[in-house]
Amino acid sequence: MLPTEVLEIAQAELVDWQGSGMSVMEVSHRGKAFVACAAAAEQSLRNLLGVPDNYRVLFLQGGATAQFSLVPMNITKPGDTVAFLHTGQWSAKAIKFAKAQELNVEVIADEAESNYSTVPAAGSYDLPANAAYLHYTPNETIGGVEFDYIPETGDVPLVADMSSTIVSRPLDVSRYGIIYAGAQKNLGPSGVTVVIVRDDLTGKARPNTPGVFDYAAQAGADSMLNTPPTFAVYLLGQVLQWIERIGGLTAMAQRNQAKAAALYAAIDGSEFYANPVALNARSWMNVPFTLADPDLDADFLKEAEAAGLTNLKGHRSVGGMRASIYNAMPQAGIDALIAFMADFANRRG
Ligand code: PMP
Repeated sequence: MLPTEVLEIAQAELVDWQGSGMSVMEVSHRGKAFVACAAAAEQSLRNLLGVPDNYRVLFLQGGATAQFSLVPMNITKPGDTVAFLHTGQWSAKAIKFAKAQELNVEVIADEAESNYSTVPAAGSYDLPANAAYLHYTPNETIGGVEFDYIPETGDVPLVADMSSTIVSRPLDVSRYGIIYAGAQKNLGPSGVTVVIVRDDLTGKARPNTPGVFDYAAQAGADSMLNTPPTFAVYLLGQVLQWIERIGGLTAMAQRNQAKAAALYAAIDGSEFYANPVALNARSWMNVPFTLADPDLDADFLKEAEAAGLTNLKGHRSVGGMRASIYNAMPQAGIDALIAFMADFANRRG
């Protein structure tokens, strides 16, 4: 979801952006107006997250998936040791792509035993002192599993795939070496990928790294080494301004926590619905749940859709249901879902 207010602004500005007589999609990305628009989007992100001055904010392309390969290409040499926490399907993908980069990949925690319904306890894993980085996935989008702490890594840079949790709450960026996120959950539309990288981790790319994917090269070109996805960057800026207007990340966190708490309470308070995730690892963003009788799944989805509650089908790999309740989902959407679930359970449970 995107905030309706943001879509309405985009609609109002679509054919005449800032009095240019053109859409933001039609102006030159090198023109003053768009350069200012991209700089304002970066500044909003810096303000919201309190990004320290020694970090670069990049707007790249290729999605978070590209970063699975580009993090290793930018900050390791072949033969280096890299460490991973494996908490579900997205960390598994990050591990797979790192393995293709001639690295010694050490998975120092793997939650397979709980069927990826838990996070490893803080300090329960041994981080090799020579690791080039530790990678983890703060929120596993498919499993609905979220870390309730930031891993302590000493001098080893911490790398996080924050695709499905960025700007959902305040964040201490200084704990990280690199944060990356595809925009399409909490930041805006697909097409732009945010990378926040500490200065000392730039300028180390392997010689065969494409220039557009070299953090130092893109930082030096204000992320415009190639033509940026201008509409996506514009909309990202609008979404960040919307978060500023509602009170910043503290207010965002309060909203998100209240939404998630209401939905989990409804699930836990029912005999008919269940959520498989450990209590301390329950995501604020993605809430998977199952029905007591999976034969009713298809009916549940059909009736939900008829009630205007869409996209509730769980990921094809796990089945069941999943409510993705990103920043833009209002409390009213949660309330409607909870009311529908109670009604369905009454009638069919
Ligand atoms: N990581 C996580 C945690 C995700 O949720 C997703 C998308 N669902 C990705 C990576 C892949 O993102 P993209 O499609 O932008 O490459």
